[in-house]
Amino acid sequence: MTQIIDGKKISAEIKDELKEKVSALKAEGKEITLAVIQVGNDPASTVYVGNKKKSCAYIGIRSLAYELPEDTTEEELLSLVNQLNESRDVHGILVQLPLPKQINEDKIIKAIAPAKDVDGFHPQSVGALSIGQPGFVSCTPAGIIQLLKRSGITIDGKECVIVGRSNIVGKPMALLLLRENGTVTVCHSHTKNLKEVCKRADILVAAIGKPKFFNHEYIKEGAVVIDVGIHRNENNKLCGDVDYDDVFPHVSAITPVPGGVGPMTIAMLMYNCVQAAEMEI
Ligand code: NDP
Repeated sequence: MTQIIDGKKISAEIKDELKEKVSALKAEGKEITLAVIQVGNDPASTVYVGNKKKSCAYIGIRSLAYELPEDTTEEELLSLVNQLNESRDVHGILVQLPLPKQINEDKIIKAIAPAKDVDGFHPQSVGALSIGQPGFVSCTPAGIIQLLKRSGITIDGKECVIVGRSNIVGKPMALLLLRENGTVTVCHSHTKNLKEVCKRADILVAAIGKPKFFNHEYIKEGAVVIDVGIHRNENNKLCGDVDYDDVFPHVSAITPVPGGVGPMTIAMLMYNCVQAAEMEI
């Protein structure tokens, strides 16, 4: 029988575990604080930031919201980030992306103190991950590892194929699966014979940003399929990069969209905030 990997349930479990940790830290007199910066009012960013604040409130993390106007300059944003870097009361700093075009995202990401880089995007965090040292890990791929482990799926020795090589999903996913002793292949838009490569996968991670791209022709019988994509179709319904109904009879386990990978991203952000505060103790 096909296992539906329940990201809603697993993310709720993680949040409840964190809630307990946070209340234990509070009892020792430590309040965890996350600074959330949004520049402009992109509607999708407003929804993401709102969900992050809600999760903070649930877990007991204090969130400080900085809502800056669309025409904020790079210097102004850098100055706020520096001020938060210096603040002993702030444990994590999150700058919601994308930023308006006058601001260089890479420059801002680099300006965040690595000890407060709860998104795991700083080059130092990425470097630490690549050489197996402790550091913050990008939340979506970290969440996928939790989904697999907590669903009883073994990664060790498995043939893992990731389609997509972005800095926030595909590349850190490859490093994490490698760390778990998977045999890892990363595909992208120049990959030849994509179907054949995907058909080798015991674990297939689809992260290309194309609705319902992967049908059963890409799937080995009995594979585990992780769908990172999120799209809204013409009927306002959400779907992923995988054609769920088409592949379902062929897989041993699959993440649905919504309710799979999506809820894990915020849970792992909360995990990183707690880690930031614990490292400081
Ligand atoms: P990017 O657009 O940054 O990267 C897409 C990657 O897919 C690129 O590496 C690109 O290759 C590759 N690609 C595109 N088309 C093809 C194709 N036809 N065949 C093979 N490879 C292809 O996307 P992200 O990694 O940021 O996001 C991917 C998806 O995941 C999106 O739908 C996004 O919305 C979703 N997402 C979901 C999150 C969640 O919390 N659930 C979090 C983050 C993202 P190349 O490098 O050669 O251009």
